[in-house]
Amino acid sequence: MKSRRKYDVLIVGAGPAGIFAALEITTHSNLSVALVEKGKSIEKRKCPLESSKKCLHCIPCDIVSGWGGAGAYSDGKLNLTPDIGGFLHEYIGREKLIELIDYVDKIYVRFGAPKEVYEPDKDTIDNIRARATMGRLLFIPSIIRHIGTERCVEVLKRLKETLAERIHLIFSKEAERIITENGKATGVLLSSGEILKGKYIVLAPGRSGSQWLSEEARRLNLHTQLNPVDIGVRVEIPASISEELTKVCYEPKFVYYSQTFDDLVRTFCVNPHGVVVRENINGIWTVNGHSFANRKTDNTNFAILSSTYFTEPFKEPILYGQSIAKLANFLGQGVLVQRLGDLKRGRRSTKERILRNTIQPTLKDSTPGDLSFVLPYRYLVNITEMLEALDYLMPGINDPHTLLYGVEIKLYSMRLKLTACLETEIENLFAAGDGAGVSRGLIQASVSGILVGREILRRHG
Ligand SMILES: Cc1cc2nc3c(=O)[nH]c(=O)nc-3n(C[C@H](O)[C@H](O)[C@H](O)COP(=O)(O)OP(=O)(O)OC[C@H]3O[C@@H](n4cnc5c(N)ncnc54)[C@H](O)[C@@H]3O)c2cc1C
Repeated sequence: MKSRRKYDVLIVGAGPAGIFAALEITTHSNLSVALVEKGKSIEKRKCPLESSKKCLHCIPCDIVSGWGGAGAYSDGKLNLTPDIGGFLHEYIGREKLIELIDYVDKIYVRFGAPKEVYEPDKDTIDNIRARATMGRLLFIPSIIRHIGTERCVEVLKRLKETLAERIHLIFSKEAERIITENGKATGVLLSSGEILKGKYIVLAPGRSGSQWLSEEARRLNLHTQLNPVDIGVRVEIPASISEELTKVCYEPKFVYYSQTFDDLVRTFCVNPHGVVVRENINGIWTVNGHSFANRKTDNTNFAILSSTYFTEPFKEPILYGQSIAKLANFLGQGVLVQRLGDLKRGRRSTKERILRNTIQPTLKDSTPGDLSFVLPYRYLVNITEMLEALDYLMPGINDPHTLLYGVEIKLYSMRLKLTACLETEIENLFAAGDGAGVSRGLIQASVSGILVGREILRRHG
């Protein structure tokens, strides 16, 4: 589509939220749409880590920015369960959310996601639930469509080809300021100095743009509330230990309230036969996990995360999480790895101890060390309690040879005050996805884009 200065709809951010908003609007109308993305197009995204093995701290980071957003190189696990991946049920109710999850899931399949879905049957759910109860764990059955890291990029390329014919795509330009006139949003000032005008503005900047969004919210006097910070470790075990569970339940999710602190602790992002990877968040190394559709290892990894909601007067949960991750980087010059047995005996893991461990780390770039110098006592207790509880379901997990990588943190953006159709307190200014604090995953981010898209279509008649 040709470039112009005035559009019906301006979208900031080409992650799932922005893409699905654009798709919904242009599928059902002829409204003119421009999408501004500070990163590159999908074919041009390339992390220097792949070639030089060194993070060059690119701004913006090609891993989390560009067409497809943070999800482009993700494992592409579409979580089709309404209880996971966001807070949209609080805005539209569970029934509506289930309906919209089905709607976006069908779009992903149309654009190349595999047809197969992993969903445990009732007997399996009952059986897992019974064993989970022995460890005082709550089991959340999940329905997963696994796109896989390699195929994710293909799906995104197809979405781009479709949208490139319908909307104006503006890459490598950053939205700097939201323009309002008489209480209405009317445009966006770009980093290049250009002003784009729009009747409706959709902000979908994801987590990498959440700082910018918070600053804009403050400037525009928009109300916000704090989200929690999740801090923990990535656990790596032999795939055989979890196989019984992961074969029948692709993404086993367990929630535990620690006996000592009554804190919420949960498992997250299980990668059967996968690899542990480093992730760079604004210059700080943290851990994550991947599994590939066509490449299998002998190990399985997942995160154990402990959630903290800070209370008054503290208002910087993101900074707190980052400080803990920085401490691990400071001690280990990157990500630390420790055997559970060493942690419990109060000693560091060394290269030699790791070498003679029965489980070998899939993340070779990690430094054997001591997580007790990094994680506060509260988190260590929560994590070790949860591993004991999980032993009822995966006998052998609470073994001295189990590997713990630190730290894994999930920083959630502040949550903007939004209406049920995700409009901010400023007329015609909408916010969607992880940056607005309403989602935490691909599916709910996509659903939030659809919600905004539909509201704009409704207003436009
Ligand atoms: C390593 C990793 C693995 C993941 N794995 C999974 C998974 O398997 N399953 C799952 O459901 N979720 C996963 N996620 C989470 C998922 O990727 C996000 O929940 C989802 O991408 C959020 O979508 P979004 O559109 O809100 O934001 P994003 O995807 O973050 O997209 C926002 C876009 O906005 C752009 N932007 C930001 N600010 C500006 C600005 N001022 N101007 C212009 N552009 C801007 C950014 O460059 C970015 O491209 C993973 C995330 C990561 C990092």
